[in-house]
Amino acid sequence: KTDAALLEVNNIEVIYNHVILVLKGVSLSVPKGGITALLGGNGAGKTTTLKAISNLLRSERGEVTKGSIIYRGERVEDGAPADLVRKGVIQVMEGRHCFEHLTVEENLLTGAYTRKDGRAAVQADLEMVYNYFPRLKERRKSQAGYTSGGEQQMVAMGRALMSRPEMILLDEPSMGLAPQLVEQIFEIVKSVNENEGVTFLLAEQNTNVALRYAHYGYILESGRIVMDGPAADLRENPDVKEFYLGVG
Ligand code: ATP
Repeated sequence: KTDAALLEVNNIEVIYNHVILVLKGVSLSVPKGGITALLGGNGAGKTTTLKAISNLLRSERGEVTKGSIIYRGERVEDGAPADLVRKGVIQVMEGRHCFEHLTVEENLLTGAYTRKDGRAAVQADLEMVYNYFPRLKERRKSQAGYTSGGEQQMVAMGRALMSRPEMILLDEPSMGLAPQLVEQIFEIVKSVNENEGVTFLLAEQNTNVALRYAHYGYILESGRIVMDGPAADLRENPDVKEFYLGVG
């Protein structure tokens, strides 16, 4: 594990529809091999930040109007979404986005479409994904649209893993899931990070769980980073406790 930044976001501004300024100068640095959390309430700008990184704003009439985004030393903010995918950055969107009419296994296989290393390698990775998500193996022949919210979150993450990413941008993995399932999803994030070396940047409203699994956290409020630090420090910070952890 090294501390070199894999991804750097430098002072970006994002504007929607040419008028609505949503990110007002956001900077963050994601070290290779780490789990970094982007925290904040509803509407703070977490999803916008992830979409700015993966170049998905254009389809929503949003644009980065200031600042730069650097991945492995190269500027990427003007690229196409597919360029970043090719560089190994995969976004798992909020709300899962499975192909509802495909089976769980077919969904997972769509994650491998950019790979050129042959069927045996893809088959091995399918086993790797089933190893992290035994539940998906049980459900592999089920139509994804009929699986539970938790299972669909697993499908979305499993599909991302099938592309052998260097970095996963994970948007609100806890959303709509029961606490026990949230814990399970974060345990898997932790073991994927440790065993596969995948770097994570995850957006979460659930500060409590995110700060237990992340190494470093940034707190976003109304489009600005208001605090950042090692997760252990943030957990002990009185303001974080009061405003985000629900303890007075
Ligand atoms: P959530 O947890 O609800 O996803 P968030 O922190 O991810 O919250 P964003 O989704 O990034 O927040 O939204 C930040 C702000 O940008 C909000 O005020 C939202 O209304 C606004 N916004 C988001 N998408 C658009 C869009 N396509 N057009 C205009 N405004 C938008």
